[in-house]
Amino acid sequence: MALIVQKYGGTSVGTIERIRNVARRAIKTKEQGHSVIVVVSAMAGETDRLIGLAQQITDLPDEREYDVLVSTGEQVSVALLAITLHSMGNSAVSFLGHQIKIQTDSAFSKARILNIDSERIMNSLDHGTIVIVAGFQGVDEDNNITTLGRGGSDTTAVAVAAALNADVCEIYTDVDGVYTTDPNICSDARKLEKISYDEMLEMASLGAKVLQIRSVELAKKYNVSIHVRSSLSDNTGTIVTKEDEEMEKVMVSGVTYNQNEAKITILRVPDKPGVASKIFTPITEANINVDMIIQNTSTDGYADLTFTVPKADFKKALGIVQKTAKELNAVDVLSDPNIAKVSIVGAGMRSHAGVASKMFTVLANVGVNIMMISTSEIKISCVIDAKFTELAVRVLHETFELSKSDVSQE
Ligand code: ADP
Ligand code: ASP
Ligand code: MG
Repeated sequence: MALIVQKYGGTSVGTIERIRNVARRAIKTKEQGHSVIVVVSAMAGETDRLIGLAQQITDLPDEREYDVLVSTGEQVSVALLAITLHSMGNSAVSFLGHQIKIQTDSAFSKARILNIDSERIMNSLDHGTIVIVAGFQGVDEDNNITTLGRGGSDTTAVAVAAALNADVCEIYTDVDGVYTTDPNICSDARKLEKISYDEMLEMASLGAKVLQIRSVELAKKYNVSIHVRSSLSDNTGTIVTKEDEEMEKVMVSGVTYNQNEAKITILRVPDKPGVASKIFTPITEANINVDMIIQNTSTDGYADLTFTVPKADFKKALGIVQKTAKELNAVDVLSDPNIAKVSIVGAGMRSHAGVASKMFTVLANVGVNIMMISTSEIKISCVIDAKFTELAVRVLHETFELSKSDVSQE
């Protein structure tokens, strides 16, 4: 008998019929003799709808109230699933974040889980009850409702799996695994049987939204085995696990894109110690994550600094930078929200030379200008004009022979 955590995303609980399907799957697992914890997201489109309502009032809603609002989607889906399970003659109980003390820090809209009180969950499981946990939400030490960032139900699931020492965390979604690139924009994408935590971490942080990055971090830290699969079939999906020798042989295992960032440039600031700190400290204090940074230094003692921030924080960041620019007598602040970051990821890059130049050449050949570049041991990212995203993803996917038809990397 195993302890299995199953997480179902928005599409998988998008209608009452889909919720029935989730209930049937949970029951089947239970009937096989396992203990089952189900983590659910809000019904498809619901979180966007809630955010849209707040945006009709203001661009910058109060952060605490924003989380009170957007966490409601999951309250609906846990209750609907519990009612469905009851109607099918099963014992089930739903829990919201505060009821099982999913304790987080107070970073509203991007909170991190610190602790989960597993006792109440264990008690219910011991009684043979299917436990349903609301994804995406927690409470801080003052009992304020917090949320974990978009896609955060994945993180709830992995955190619950880690806290209860589950045997596996199954992430059910609308595709049947992790692919070499987003199968919804590249029909030739190939499903991966296995992917290492590190590669998945890079893919997730670079835009492959199939798993929230924090969920992969937690899985790696607590050695939780993740199985990403479809809620509409019984096919085996992708196992996210520790790296093995076979994985290291693959030079590039995936191509990702992210259109959720915006670029800000501060023009002609003095090129001297302390300037970068003056620019970035207030941004960090506002809890905004800066991603890529480049600095061009001119010979006359001035520098231009360009960096990217999440689109959701773009207006806030721009306001802060404009203020700092005045203080530093910068010439101007430029901004561009229409950018995309395309990246290639692969553990084998460590041991293969020439991957970066191949990437730059292929983008140049199709007329795509590279605005920013960043690299790590196992990834290369380029910021480009957002309108070229699909083109760039497709040519990179083809160049690095990731397609279904190509078996050389299998
Ligand atoms: P859920 O609502 O189940 O959490 P998400 O929309 O968050 O689902 O994540 C699944 C989506 O991730 C897929 O529909 C797909 O478009 C996208 N995706 C992006 N990159 C990848 C990839 N490399 N492999 C699989 N899916 C990907
Ligand atoms: N409902 C939340 C979102 O749409 C969390 C999740 O789906 O994982 O981002
Ligand atoms: Mg998701």
